[in-house]
Amino acid sequence: MTELPGGVLRAQLPTPFPVGTVNCYLLLGPTVAVVDPGMMWRDSTSQVEALLAEAGITKPDVDAVVVTHGHPDHFGAAGWLADAADAPVVCGRAEVSKLSGDFGRLRGSDLTAILGIPETMREDFSAFYELVRPLTSPIAEHRLAPLDDLDVIELGGRSWTAHVTPGHAAGHLSLRADAGDTLISGDHLLGHITPNPVLEPDGDLPDGRRRSLTEYLGSLDRFVAMDPGLVLPGHGAAFTDVPSLVGLTRSHHVARALDVLEIVRSLGEPTAFDVAVAMFPKLQGFSHMLGVSEALGHLDLLEDDALVTRIADRPIRYRAS
Ligand SMILES: [Zn+2]
Repeated sequence: MTELPGGVLRAQLPTPFPVGTVNCYLLLGPTVAVVDPGMMWRDSTSQVEALLAEAGITKPDVDAVVVTHGHPDHFGAAGWLADAADAPVVCGRAEVSKLSGDFGRLRGSDLTAILGIPETMREDFSAFYELVRPLTSPIAEHRLAPLDDLDVIELGGRSWTAHVTPGHAAGHLSLRADAGDTLISGDHLLGHITPNPVLEPDGDLPDGRRRSLTEYLGSLDRFVAMDPGLVLPGHGAAFTDVPSLVGLTRSHHVARALDVLEIVRSLGEPTAFDVAVAMFPKLQGFSHMLGVSEALGHLDLLEDDALVTRIADRPIRYRAS
C-alpha cells in the first residue's frame, strides 16, 4: 500500500493480463470510496481487504465503489465490494451495459467479419471471454449510478468533477478533484504506455462501431487545459506534466499512422486484420483484438486525412490513395 497526497491510499492489485497490476485507490475522508477494486480472485480481493484494514475500516464502511471503465481488470470485483458495502457503483453512463454483464459484445456482432478477422479466431475471442467472466462479479442493476460528463459527485468527503471521455472505453470516467490538484485518470492517461483505442461495437453508428482513436485524440485538449498537478492512473506510477504526455501521445499516433500507411501500400488491399498482423506479428488469440483496435484506429485517421480509401465492405479493404 502507498499513501499519496490528499488522503488517497493505493494498492497495486494483480491481474492475469500482460498489463501487470491494476491500481486501486481508496479515497478516505468523512465518507469512503474505492476506485477500481480489481478482479474477482482471492489474490486480488484479499489485497483490497488489506487496503481497507490498513485504513482501519472494513467493507461495510465503504460508501461508494467507482469503476473508471468496464474492462474486467478494473471492474471485476466491483459487484462483490458493492454488495458487501451496500454501496452504489459509480461509472460513466456508456459503461453500464458492460458492467451489467455484457462486456464481451464483440462476439455477438458481425464486426469480426467486416474487419477481416478469421472465423477460427472468433472462437478464441469467445474462449477468452469465458475465461475472464469468472474473474468478474455480477453487479446488480439497481447499484449502478451512472455519471454524465461534467457531473459533480462527492467521494471520500471531497467534491469531484466527472470527465466522461470516450477513446479507451466509450464511457471512460476520470475524476478531477474540485479542490487540490488531483486527477484520477483510469486508463485514459497512463504515464508509461499509450492506451489502446479498444474496438467498441455500437449498432447505432454507421460502421457498427465507434471511431475510438479519433474520439480519444479529440478528448485530450481538455486534459492539457486541466494540467493537473498529480495524476493517479489505472496502471503504473502517479505522474505529472499532462501537456508533455499529450504531446508525446499525439506525435506517437502521427508516426504510427504513417507506419500503417506504409503497411497498406506494401500489402495492396489489406483488411484491418491484415494490417494488425503486419504491425504485430507475434499476436496470439484474443490479443489480436487489441491489435485490430490499434490498426483500425490508425486506418480511421488515414481515412479522415484521405490517405486511404475503402474498396470493399465485407470485409472492408483499404487502399492507399
Ligand atoms: Zn486497464
